[in-house]
Formats: sequence, C-alpha cells, structure tokens
Amino acid sequence: MSDCLFCKIIAGEIPSSKVYEDDLVLAFRDIAPQAPTHILVIPKAHISSVSAINGENSAVVAHIFEVIAKVAAQEGLTGGYRVVSNCGDHAGQTVHHLHFHILGGRQLTLEMA
Ligand code: AMP
Repeated sequence: MSDCLFCKIIAGEIPSSKVYEDDLVLAFRDIAPQAPTHILVIPKAHISSVSAINGENSAVVAHIFEVIAKVAAQEGLTGGYRVVSNCGDHAGQTVHHLHFHILGGRQLTLEMA
C-alpha cells in the first residue's frame, strides 16, 4: 500500500535497522524502543492488523512466529521475552500494517492494560 509506513520500509523508501529478512518477512528495530531489545516483525504482504488475518493469508503468521523464535535466539533473549500485537484503536495500534513487537532484555512488568 503506497501510504503505509511499513510498506515503505519494506520497499527501502524509509530506512530501518534490519535484523532479519526473507522473502515473506522483515524484522527491524523499533524506532522508539520500550525495552533494551525491541524488534518489530512484519509480513511483506500488507495485512492491516490481526483482525484481517484469514484462511488466505494466515500461513505467513505461522512463519512470523518461527522468525520470532529465531530472532529472539539471535538477540540472546535467553531470559525470555514478550510478543505483542496491538489491534485497533483501543489497543493503541498506530501503524495499520500487521506487526508483532518482540520486547526483552529486562524483567517486564505484568501490566496488560
Ligand atoms: P503500534 O503502536 O503497536 O502500532 O506499533 C507501531 C510501532 O512502530 C511503534 O512502537 C513505533 O515506535 C514503531 N515505529 C514507527 N515508525 C517507525 C520507524 N520508522 N522505524 C521503526 N519503528 C517505527
């Protein structure tokens, strides 16, 4: 999508600090990290949010979780980490391209809301 920030990052029109890339998925460091390690994992195909996942596009989501495990190991997150996807306004989703935050590198609080 031409007006999507993450599609522009995928296209290389906006720079990113890339940590992993393959044909289907890109992972890069969040520009405003909320933890010592804060990485976003996104599908290259534009999917607007978790709500838009369906039988046609869900295979990439399984692949994203394989990539999350790989990236977490690569980043040395042996103490654990959190995976978050904000979906819609009430969750505070600001970029409407499906993304999974990997947060780690310190003890995270249990606050969920
Ligand atoms: P969310 O609020 O869940 O939609 O997450 C969007 C995330 O994208 C936020 O954590 C932002 O800090 C991050 N973000 C926004 N612009 C960029 C960018 N150019 N490069 C890396 N991360 C970004």
